Amino acid sequence: MIAEIIINSNAKALNRIFDYVVPKEMEKEIFVGARIYAPFGRGDKLEDGFVIGLKDKSEFANKELAKIIYEMSIPEEKMQLAKLMARKYFCNISDCIKLMLPPGTAGKEPESWAKEKTGKFVCLARDSEEIQDSINSGEISSSKHKKVLEFLLDNDDIYLPDLEKILEISSSVCKTLEKKGYVEIQEKQIERNPFVNKNIEKDEPKILNSEQQRAYDAISFNIENEEVITSLIYGITGSGKTEIYMQLIGKAISLGKTAIMLVPEISLTPQMVDRFLARFGNEIAILHSKLSIGERYDEWQKISEGKAKIVIGARSAIFAPVKNLGIIIIDEEHDMSYKSDMSPRYHARDLAKYITKQAKCPLVLGSATPDISTYKQALDEEIEMFTLTKRANDASLPEIQIVDLRQELSYGNRSMLSGKLQKEIRENIKNKKQTILFLNRRGYSTFVLCRECGEPVKCPNCSISLTYHKYENILKCHYCGLQMPVVKKCPNCESDKVKYFGTGTQKLEDEIHKLFPEASTIRMDIDTVSKKNSHEKILNTFKNENIDILIGTQMIVKGHHFPNVTLVGVIVADGALNMEDYNASQKTFQTLVQVSGRAGRESEKGRVIIQTYNPDHYAIIYSAKQDYELFYNAEINLRKMLKYPPFCDIIMIRFVGKNVNDIEKLSNEVYSNLQNLIDKQNTFVYKPVPSPVDKIKNKYRWRIILKGKVNNKTLNIIYKALEIKQIEGVSISVDINPNSMI
Ligand code: ADP
Ligand code: ZN
Ligand code: ZN
Repeated sequence: MIAEIIINSNAKALNRIFDYVVPKEMEKEIFVGARIYAPFGRGDKLEDGFVIGLKDKSEFANKELAKIIYEMSIPEEKMQLAKLMARKYFCNISDCIKLMLPPGTAGKEPESWAKEKTGKFVCLARDSEEIQDSINSGEISSSKHKKVLEFLLDNDDIYLPDLEKILEISSSVCKTLEKKGYVEIQEKQIERNPFVNKNIEKDEPKILNSEQQRAYDAISFNIENEEVITSLIYGITGSGKTEIYMQLIGKAISLGKTAIMLVPEISLTPQMVDRFLARFGNEIAILHSKLSIGERYDEWQKISEGKAKIVIGARSAIFAPVKNLGIIIIDEEHDMSYKSDMSPRYHARDLAKYITKQAKCPLVLGSATPDISTYKQALDEEIEMFTLTKRANDASLPEIQIVDLRQELSYGNRSMLSGKLQKEIRENIKNKKQTILFLNRRGYSTFVLCRECGEPVKCPNCSISLTYHKYENILKCHYCGLQMPVVKKCPNCESDKVKYFGTGTQKLEDEIHKLFPEASTIRMDIDTVSKKNSHEKILNTFKNENIDILIGTQMIVKGHHFPNVTLVGVIVADGALNMEDYNASQKTFQTLVQVSGRAGRESEKGRVIIQTYNPDHYAIIYSAKQDYELFYNAEINLRKMLKYPPFCDIIMIRFVGKNVNDIEKLSNEVYSNLQNLIDKQNTFVYKPVPSPVDKIKNKYRWRIILKGKVNNKTLNIIYKALEIKQIEGVSISVDINPNSMI
């Protein structure tokens, strides 16, 4: 028997399949997905790898496998998925396999995997009635002792340091109680639970309204009958989508199945997780990048041991090791974070389709502003659609107004805030209502320009303007992170006429303080949330301390519920529109609809003011009307005309390297190969050109764009065209329907 193996290595030369003889005694135990050691290279050093196929014969196999590592393997269907991904996304199989392994274990010896730690736990040493009596009779006089015992009466045993933190007691308190025989302190395994010891009230399923019920019935039927059907639940924020998801998950669990729910990374907030904890208790596992490796490892183990039946996570949770999958749900399915910008450049929605086919279960996509391609599939009846038209809690939609910034300029208003927005903010401060201001540019001045020679001050490593950050008093490159002292002289012509232009969140905050000295503000952007949990802290402070104004970038847009926010101001709506990007209108529309949704989530009607230089753009007009269908109709016609997705796929072949001549040579070679191979009827190839941002971190970037359908034939042609003599130092990658074209 022969095993096809791949070595766990990033080295390009090892991204190949090697044939090994399976020793006789191993034949019974080997399987596709097994992790093994194999002698490799001249010295026959043992390398680890995975079996990705088994066959009878091979001309090349001349060495034997050394050993099977039993502690870890990958199910065969995941191995199939890894193979498919490697081909479709032009990447190493071992990179795909890594996504399917427990966090922190790839390429490491079992001894060094994130170890399950143990720690001290406290529990009652006598039964609860006895303890209660001791409290009532006054036998326990210390109020701190009482506090501990009362806590333990209401709760399960608890990790000692957590208890001390929650009750604010010193370490001697529990020790004394242990000596007196009231409590016991035991060494136990710690589950590095990211949502430790929350006292969450149990929540019961709600009675669905008729629209919700229709969706629930149909999809619940699909779960029960293992129908591989994709459904879109299309409904505005607050229309009760999450309630349907929870009941569908409940259904899957009741049938002994499991569920995966993906949410955008930024929506994985404690409020969201709490809702699921309240409904399902400890049956859930959470996976996302903010957890430590140890925490992720534990969550992963909980899933693979079957202790957690519901997985909630960001993009990569799609690879969670669930068994007997009953449903996959992708909330906010249009969100860009489902597409990976790094290799493997996969889209979680595409993989979800494949995984539901393997598992024989339905896929549910939910959104208020579906991806254009998804909505087209629903109209074409390729997928089922359920529409929710009412807000489940009867909150009314906000009133939205557009302000033309060009007119403000002609009135001589040079402020970032139009007269209208200033008036509304003043009103809100007076009425003790809260305001959110959204500006998708951080820093103070977004570019620094020399008025003598007209050159912007650029990052020396990237072809991009530097941003001035006033509080730190430095220039930053938002691409490579470089920080530079402020320049007083133009680096190009030495003139001292350097001026700071453009506006970011820091400047907006300054301007608010000048205009409204009495207002309290809080700012949320990458510069203020870099620390773990600071994201959450800022939002909690805003909510709990009733701060007047929250100023923020993209990260304030999603998922939060602020009852006292009645005004949302969008400082410049056009950010994405001027970019060379097929998704620009869609991004603008979705962002505006979502930001607007932050206003007036309770009884009081919300107001939204959208400031723009393009008041006639359909993405702006229709977002102000909150009308997805009108937007869709305009957008789909444009995309048809321009041959953009879903009518075509955009395939970007990117060349990156230090030497621009090498890049030019290689890209032209690939281009002429493509010209010779491609079916010109159906696919269009553009000449290689420098990318709009043609240098990042001192590496030049060129690209070739193809417009055509990604299918086996196209993939074969691209692979063939890429069979060229590589040049050291130039890397080539392929990205299908990339998030960003820069
Ligand atoms: P979405 O996910 O579409 O934003 P949610 O499911 O979060 O909507 O629902 C919005 C609010 O309405 C939540 O507070 C939710 O508990 C409540 N809700 C949803 N469905 C119902 C229902 N059938 N009956 C009562 N309240 C509901
Ligand atoms: Zn100059
Ligand atoms: Zn840079």
